[in-house]
Amino acid sequence: MFCRSPPGTYTPTLFTLPLRLVVPQCLSFLLAFVVLLNVTPGQAQTPAPCASEHEARQAAGQCAGASFDFHAFGPYRDDVPAPHDVLGHPIGALHTPYGRMEDYVDALTDAAPDRVRDLVYGRSVEQRDLHLLAIGSAETIGRLDEVREGLQQLAAPTETSDATANELATDLPVAVWINSANDGNETAAFEAALQLAYQVAAGEGERARRIRENALVLINVAHNPESHERFVAWYNAFGMGDAAPNAYEHDAPWGMNTNNNHFQIDLNRDGVGLTQTESRAVSTAMQRWRPQVFVDLHGQTTQYFFPPNAAPINPLYPDQLTTWIDTIGRANADSFDEYGWSYYTRDVFDLQYPGYWDSYPSLHGATGMTYETDGGGGRGLRWRRDDGTTLTFEDGIAHHFVATLSTIDAAARNREARLRDYYRFFADAMAEAEAEPPRGVVLRSGEDPRRAARLATTLLRHGVTVERVTQSGAVQGYDALAGEAVRQTVSTGSFFVPFTQPNATVARMLLLPDIELPEDFRQQELARLAHNLRVAPDEREPHAFYDVTAWNLALAGDVPALWTESDAPLPTTSLSLPDSAQAAPGGWRHDVAVPTVAGGTDGRARSAYVWTPGSVGSTRLLARLMDEGFNVAVVDRPMVVGDRSFPRGSYIARVGRNPDTLHDRIDALAETAAVPVHAANTAFPKRGPTGTGSETTRSLTPPDLAVLAGDGVSTTSYGAFWYVFQERLGQPFTALKARTLSANDLRGQDVLVLPNGDYGTLPDAAMEAIQRWVERGGTVVGYAGGARLLGQLGVAYTDTTGTERSLTSVRTAIDEALTTEPALPLEPSPSATVPEQPVPGTFLRARADTTHWLTYGLGAELPLLTQRTPLGASVHGANPVTYASDDLAVSGFAWPALTDHVYAERPYATVDRLGRGRIVRLSEDPLFRVWADGPIDLLTNAIYLGGPNENTGY
Ligand SMILES: [Zn+2]
Repeated sequence: MFCRSPPGTYTPTLFTLPLRLVVPQCLSFLLAFVVLLNVTPGQAQTPAPCASEHEARQAAGQCAGASFDFHAFGPYRDDVPAPHDVLGHPIGALHTPYGRMEDYVDALTDAAPDRVRDLVYGRSVEQRDLHLLAIGSAETIGRLDEVREGLQQLAAPTETSDATANELATDLPVAVWINSANDGNETAAFEAALQLAYQVAAGEGERARRIRENALVLINVAHNPESHERFVAWYNAFGMGDAAPNAYEHDAPWGMNTNNNHFQIDLNRDGVGLTQTESRAVSTAMQRWRPQVFVDLHGQTTQYFFPPNAAPINPLYPDQLTTWIDTIGRANADSFDEYGWSYYTRDVFDLQYPGYWDSYPSLHGATGMTYETDGGGGRGLRWRRDDGTTLTFEDGIAHHFVATLSTIDAAARNREARLRDYYRFFADAMAEAEAEPPRGVVLRSGEDPRRAARLATTLLRHGVTVERVTQSGAVQGYDALAGEAVRQTVSTGSFFVPFTQPNATVARMLLLPDIELPEDFRQQELARLAHNLRVAPDEREPHAFYDVTAWNLALAGDVPALWTESDAPLPTTSLSLPDSAQAAPGGWRHDVAVPTVAGGTDGRARSAYVWTPGSVGSTRLLARLMDEGFNVAVVDRPMVVGDRSFPRGSYIARVGRNPDTLHDRIDALAETAAVPVHAANTAFPKRGPTGTGSETTRSLTPPDLAVLAGDGVSTTSYGAFWYVFQERLGQPFTALKARTLSANDLRGQDVLVLPNGDYGTLPDAAMEAIQRWVERGGTVVGYAGGARLLGQLGVAYTDTTGTERSLTSVRTAIDEALTTEPALPLEPSPSATVPEQPVPGTFLRARADTTHWLTYGLGAELPLLTQRTPLGASVHGANPVTYASDDLAVSGFAWPALTDHVYAERPYATVDRLGRGRIVRLSEDPLFRVWADGPIDLLTNAIYLGGPNENTGY
């Protein structure tokens, strides 16, 4: 029996071993100590289990949980250390910090170099190495480059014949990617990855051998290191292993408990935009190693989840995706059933929005799956369920461990068939793209070449073939924003993306003008609406959309595009991503890696430097120049400089109002911002009244900028602001705590930004401080949830209910869209009304008043990603952007009749005066997930033009 001290009598002893352990003095410790000193992993042993919850809490992680033996899958190779040998604690007894994980990775690769390689594939924002462990048989690891090239060949249907693909499928291991700590605060995955690495590398049982013989296992230990480290540091600081759900340790503070990266951006929505360093690195590594199976390990559910998925499944995926998901799901179910463990499938987690790390790898031919485990994360080391049973961190890890092992084994058993289908994925996608229009899309450089160049760069990161137009000409095509076929002149330097290409699925998923929801899912939601139109408001059923229904990257970035029926509408050359952009994947500098126009000045100006508005680059140039103390102005009328025309909102830096250093600095800053700047030698316009000396030229003052952060503010919305303003625009700002905001905080600030958030808990004192500061001259800008809060500042807005339309006409339109008769209430409720039902993330057509300073740099028509009902209209101010009059849906799901009813002609942006200050509201987040930043100028204009500068009325 164990020498178990009575509770409360542990005498921790500090040993001067390389592993600094604090352990209880008892026999169980002594046994563990023997294992530590004299590693005999042939019979790898978990340290003795804790005898009780109390003992476990007292032992500070030095005894193991009792529910699962991670070493029951041996025997193990003698010379390979198990995780607890190096970490000093049994897996699941503590949260392992990042550096300790790296110690184990080093020990594992040192001990078994014939089976394990540590491939460092990049660095996180905070400069942590990103580790991909490649584990396989000595033969596979010995010819790793050859294996990688073989897998690459399978993904190249234009170069690889069916016969060659068959030979490769006979020869190659199947590549299985296990992705951990994408949501690093869901902590079980990180620990499971370590135990899994040991199991696959050191296991000598039949299954471990079969896996190594047939599979190349790629373990990405931490997709998102910062999320892991931030949360684990907090939890290790306060966690006591208390199972009470209301204990402090289960409620980490704002920003510490998120699944976001350093910039508080959710990497598990970033597959579409690849805006972040870590997403870019993982995507590049995935395209380098070409896995056939990709499992993304999470942990936020109360019951284990693995696919099959819930509806909707995106219609662009081939049937083989769901077939393979089913095969693997069944294998997982068998393993869980053996243990008698609960799990669920086909619920909640769908496969429609392609930015998740199950759907994104699926675009690249993998069987992409999300597994959600139950223990760990916010549930800490221990969590009391609602039925009184206790869920442990160790449980959560064990479930991931068992699921990933059975998944890898299922892939290994189906190696050849899976590899053949991998080749078929690419070959079939090309054939399908060839058979279905449109055949490609032209991304027009238009007035603002930087937007198109940024999109082309992103597409190259996705592995999509992009070509550059070398000869201008007229192109016939579909304009999704206008909703009609048009013929337009496309200039040299524009881009063309052919859809018939090896990565046809990625290209089409990101660029088809619209991808409809599967019809059965659409019908289900229409039936719900039909029901809701017949019942009282509080009887309505919720809808089942999990995420946005539109993500077209041309619309998201407001890039003018033409979808063509031709594979080659104009002469082009091929493009590739420069090495510099590959090697340093993060940061704004590499947003535009294939510029259309070189940045910089076109000479030394005698009179002034002028550049056009309407892109991140031009705003960055403005921000950097003002920050360095140069005087910049904006022109409120179209202007002629020499013989060149510049639109309203163009920026001007006058030589006579600046020091001599302007010439060199503007050239250098414009070059790095990829902005062409015109050097004007005379203030005399060749035509029209407005030249560089015009009275309509308004001097700008650099704003002292503040943004709300902390409780109540959406971390991801704050994060997008942080990333865009710091990294892309180079604009410093002060983050202020929303909850305790006071007049003192706002003193000296010119502009205050309220990102999206749920501001219901904001104290009245904070609201009063904002109101008084605006009355004295401050400019407050709120978007999404922030805009709704600003609706309470006492300025007049029309009621948020739209123009009345009869319930009957909306009801009839919905009923007509139904193909089957739904079960509806027998007698419609007399209190039934037309609901203000928003669209679930859909691009709607909007109109901008281009004479208003808020819209400078934007076109007269805009696609706006929408998921909220519109704002109430300003009564005494301006409504510079409103949704169009009818036919609103550009891309994504919209309700028949109801969407036009809710949105038509209602505002997206309002501008009002309050005292000497100003209130600007935007209905949606203009930086949504960073990639849907088409309307960004509305925000930057509000800050730079509507901020500390006294100008025209509203
Ligand atoms: Zn998650």
